[in-house]
Amino acid sequence: MSEKRRVTVLGSTGSIGVSTLSLLEEASAQGSAEVEIVALTGGRNVELLAAQAERWRPERVVIADENLYEPLKARLNGAGIAIAAGAQAVREAAQMPADWVMSAIVGAAGLAPTLAAAKTGAVIALANKESLVCAGPALLEAAKAAGGVVIPVDSEHSAIFQSLQPDCIQRVARLILTASGGPFREWTLQAMAGATPEQAVAHPNWSMGAKISIDSATMMNKGLEMIEAAYLFATPPERIDVLIHPQSIIHSMVEYQDGSTLAQLGPPDMRTPIACAYSWPDRLPWPAPRLDLATIGTLTFSEPDPTRFPAIGIARAALTAGGGAPAAMNAANETAVAAFLDRRIGFLDIAATVSETLERMDAMGDLVAGASGDVLENAMIFDRSARRVAGDIVAGLGSTH
Ligand code: NAD
Ligand code: MG
Repeated sequence: MSEKRRVTVLGSTGSIGVSTLSLLEEASAQGSAEVEIVALTGGRNVELLAAQAERWRPERVVIADENLYEPLKARLNGAGIAIAAGAQAVREAAQMPADWVMSAIVGAAGLAPTLAAAKTGAVIALANKESLVCAGPALLEAAKAAGGVVIPVDSEHSAIFQSLQPDCIQRVARLILTASGGPFREWTLQAMAGATPEQAVAHPNWSMGAKISIDSATMMNKGLEMIEAAYLFATPPERIDVLIHPQSIIHSMVEYQDGSTLAQLGPPDMRTPIACAYSWPDRLPWPAPRLDLATIGTLTFSEPDPTRFPAIGIARAALTAGGGAPAAMNAANETAVAAFLDRRIGFLDIAATVSETLERMDAMGDLVAGASGDVLENAMIFDRSARRVAGDIVAGLGSTH
């Protein structure tokens, strides 16, 4: 690539954001990527965001927490980089003209900036799965209408994206999402009941942010990914299966009607799917860790256990129900995960809270799609009421915990 590519990284201080900049650093050093950073945004890590800004010299750097505007400004004093703070400023940074935008904010907070970026027609490298779960069809439609494209970064969806033969979409029998099974794959229900946040964030194969690590432990991550896959690849829930594969080498598979199954393999390093999203349909040369199957030796597979991991079934039901159920499920899960990380509820209470939130909202008729034509407002109505209901449930559980 001869011309510099204009790149924005939303959530640059997180696990995916740091991996993205690390990949760009390595590819630039090899001469295989030439980038100019338009904007970097972070949530609260002033020091890391400032160090990234000094290294990459973006046009603008934004910290989501408004209280941290002054510390960031003081830290970057004299650097000549425009600084802003707050949710609205993150959204404005997302819509600055760029060729490629990495969407790597965690949670539904990523929806507004991702939607803003999609409307510019930029290539959206999508890690922020929650934005798809909250408003998938509308987000994909917005990107398409603007002449842009959404390329998945989530390793499972990157694998399916790479294994889907464009001329044979009608011939897909099943999408098979692989799952490591998380740290509690072999724990008893009783042991899981007493699991601590430290035990739950200790993922066996991947190093990730706290929220997605907890989602991996409950397997709600796979539930969110099932909804993500349904929207990205226009596939109904009954044709999406989950398979436990503890080694995390096969990142997912596509089974075709002729009995052929295509898979994508790689070491568990997010820079590989990020590289795919960066260069697609080309391949980015960079000093990637390579797969050594002879050393790995054995790949194993099993069915997920619905009793210990009810989250997959909850997500499947929410996807089937449609309307506001996926967005409400996501918000209830964010509320419950935060409460668990704060030690206000137990590990098994996370899925129970999500399930109970959906039941209560359904009983009140609060999951029916709203009449508003505004995508963001529609999703946020479900998000806000689910956070309220889940907050009540958590408060009740917390008093007995
Ligand atoms: P993380 O917690 O490490 O980083 C999240 C980023 O978002 C940080 O830069 C943080 O400062 C920022 N942020 C947090 N709250 C914000 C807010 N309210 N407004 C603006 N910015 C905010 O998370 P992560 O592990 O990098 O995951 C990011 C996204 O990518 C998630 O949606 C996750 O599900 C998805 N994902 C991550 C991985 C992984 O390996 N880490 C793999 C697949 C998908
Ligand atoms: Mg994943």
